Amino acid sequence: MSSNSKTVLSFGAHPDDIEFGCGGTERLLIEQGWEVTHAYLTSGGAGSDKICHDSLSILREEEARVAAEILGVRGVEFFRCLDGLDCIPREVSIRLISLIRRIKPQIIFVHATSDQFSDHKIVSHAVYHAIKVAGGPWFMEAGEQKPWKVPRVYGYEVWDPLPRFTFAVDISSSLAIKEKALIAHKSQVEVIDYARACRGLANYRGVMSGRGFAAEVFEVIKDETDLLA
Ligand SMILES: [Zn+2]
Repeated sequence: MSSNSKTVLSFGAHPDDIEFGCGGTERLLIEQGWEVTHAYLTSGGAGSDKICHDSLSILREEEARVAAEILGVRGVEFFRCLDGLDCIPREVSIRLISLIRRIKPQIIFVHATSDQFSDHKIVSHAVYHAIKVAGGPWFMEAGEQKPWKVPRVYGYEVWDPLPRFTFAVDISSSLAIKEKALIAHKSQVEVIDYARACRGLANYRGVMSGRGFAAEVFEVIKDETDLLA
């Protein structure tokens, strides 16, 4: 078992995806003593037509670190794949498996399986594959760590809202800090009003789920928690 059984590992294709998709819920978990790590598959270097790829990647990694600090996220990992993913190479799969076995998360948040945006779709698929493999005797070249079965995997929404959700979390008390974390992605906020989009979606989800003033909604990709435990 992990030394801390309240451990979350969140994956996103680009810096800002995790913050947008589940930042409010993560903040509530952190306030309850959970330890959260963010892992970004790309550093979002293709997110501007004004700044070159490498400079923007460095800038966006820094923005992701600031956003993580605002939320209270413990660790940030960058895989540094190039944006515009067309597949996940085996060495990246090995790194995903290795990270899961090292962190031993109780919960993984990742892009929902219904997300049609190409990078998001590929990351969702690759992470779910890594979760399945990490729990068994495969890919032992990923390192010394033992297999780790992740009990709970939840899909979040970003620009492609979930057509159906399984559960909603009332984030009324953490919405302000989520917005602050999103605004830390200054290079992106110049192009898109993240705070307004985040507030609009959270308000809509809050009303439609009946869970409160603002909410985040999720797809349950896997939940093997013992309900009676
Ligand atoms: Zn993205």
